[in-house]
Amino acid sequence: MLKKFLRDVVVIVVGKQAEEIADLINTKKHVNEFLIAKKLDITINQTRNILYKISDHGLVSFIRKKDKRKGWYTYFWKVEVLKSLEFLKRIFLKKINQLKNQIKSRQTKGFYICESCNIEFNEENALLHNFICPECGKVFAKKDNTKLLRELKRNLDKIRRELALVEIEIKKEKEKIEKEQLKEIKKKLKEKKKPVRKKPAKEKKKIVKKKIKKEPKKLIKKKIKKEQKKALKKKKVLKKKKVVKKIKKHSKKKRKK
Ligand SMILES: [Zn+2]
Repeated sequence: MLKKFLRDVVVIVVGKQAEEIADLINTKKHVNEFLIAKKLDITINQTRNILYKISDHGLVSFIRKKDKRKGWYTYFWKVEVLKSLEFLKRIFLKKINQLKNQIKSRQTKGFYICESCNIEFNEENALLHNFICPECGKVFAKKDNTKLLRELKRNLDKIRRELALVEIEIKKEKEKIEKEQLKEIKKKLKEKKKPVRKKPAKEKKKIVKKKIKKEPKKLIKKKIKKEQKKALKKKKVLKKKKVVKKIKKHSKKKRKK
């Protein structure tokens, strides 16, 4: 049933000619667009146009990979099953609503018809034309809605049944997604548990490192003292130089005057 529904979605969004693509992208992993084109026996551009149309409704997902040699991107596609089913559900609900309104209007309002032109008028429009056909002048006949009503009701029942089936598929798909998410969580938990066993080893290493650092502290202090002395000497030298410079400047100014 899922296969049929996914095909229905493609037919609604793109058209009957693209129907087959639904089977090709109903996969676990994303499918190479060139492979899709090959299997459908159409060009890559035609394939992309179909996929873009479905993508406009958010019913497919894609990933892209860069071809290192040629430098262009190849896209990989996959149908979003849950979103597609929910899309179909919305369409069915809309149709059901329309049919209900049509049935109600056929049951409560009068309709008139010109039997020779086969044109239909509702009560208001028929009254506007004084119940005379504007095309041929023939008097309207009251329309018998029994047959049409039967047809509308049959249609309504059919779509309601399909809607129930879509809802079953939606439930299945949600359960499937939940299972996959649980699997992922379990996987991550397992991955987290592994380093916990390794932790004590890491802590030991840290302690060892700290010990190594502690030992040469005295040496470091000595080095720092040496460096500080050097710095002091440099400062003194610099001060002397500055003083010399100032004196020189003064003497230059005096000369200028
Ligand atoms: Zn007529």
